[in-house]
Amino acid sequence: MSSRFDLKGRTALVTGGARGCGLAFAEGLAEAGADVAVFDVIEPVEGFHAISSMYNVKTKSYIVDVSSIESLEAGFAAFKADFGGKLDICVPCAGINRNVGFLDTQFEDFEKLLGVNVKGVYYTAQLAAKQMIENQTKKGSIILVASIASYMAIRSQMSSAYCGTKGAVRAMCPAIAAELVKYGIRVNSISPGYVRTEMTSPFPHLLESWKDEIMNGRVAEPEDIRGGCVFLASDASLYMTGQDLCLDGGVTKW
Ligand code: NAD
Repeated sequence: MSSRFDLKGRTALVTGGARGCGLAFAEGLAEAGADVAVFDVIEPVEGFHAISSMYNVKTKSYIVDVSSIESLEAGFAAFKADFGGKLDICVPCAGINRNVGFLDTQFEDFEKLLGVNVKGVYYTAQLAAKQMIENQTKKGSIILVASIASYMAIRSQMSSAYCGTKGAVRAMCPAIAAELVKYGIRVNSISPGYVRTEMTSPFPHLLESWKDEIMNGRVAEPEDIRGGCVFLASDASLYMTGQDLCLDGGVTKW
């Protein structure tokens, strides 16, 4: 791996990293040399525990609900103590979806989506930025996880509220980036396309039909999108901030 992508000596935090896209991002960052902590409401899948010895980095997971500010603050306090206050890379990735029609979406459903997908991302980024500033990180990188759902309707799925939350993530990115640039912290977002995870697996017929909409003709596996996260975390993207990176097999351009 070229030195521009090297993350040795850096510390990363990934929310929603117990499985799926978050786990792939955590693995990618560890492969590039970063120590990695994971916040999630569930214990990580077996594979997470192998990362540490596989890449000779420190890893640790914490049970944290990103939709609760108390839980997030407690998680950050524990993480800070365990990793000596270091934090260079933060990937707020935890997210949920609801397949409910626009006319049937209940107020409580939308509240839940907002809590995890919008406030969870926003306050994870805020607490991470405070820790980076306190620790005088020189190369801070925050990578918000949005979605192609911030650009387009998801065909055959009823996800207007989800699309709204992902639009909010993409919209907040340049504004946060503008405020953090003076601290040497870059903020970008990632918009994955259709990825085969627990989130999409309840809809195998959709995974099949989506293939026709994707320029390269196949749904992504989580491993397909992890390189984009490493790129944004590393010096290879030093001149990039406030941007959205679509990792979508060309679906938004076709
Ligand atoms: P997933 O369901 O496999 O993983 C989501 C993870 O977030 C899970 O480990 C879950 O336990 C965790 N999580 C949920 N609520 C949480 C909370 N309150 N606090 C902490 N952790 C919580 O889904 P995924 O597909 O890997 O999704 C990861 C991210 O990628 C989400 O933000 C999702 O919106 C986004 N995304 C996914 C796709 C896709 O096609 N799968 C496409 C675009 C964007």
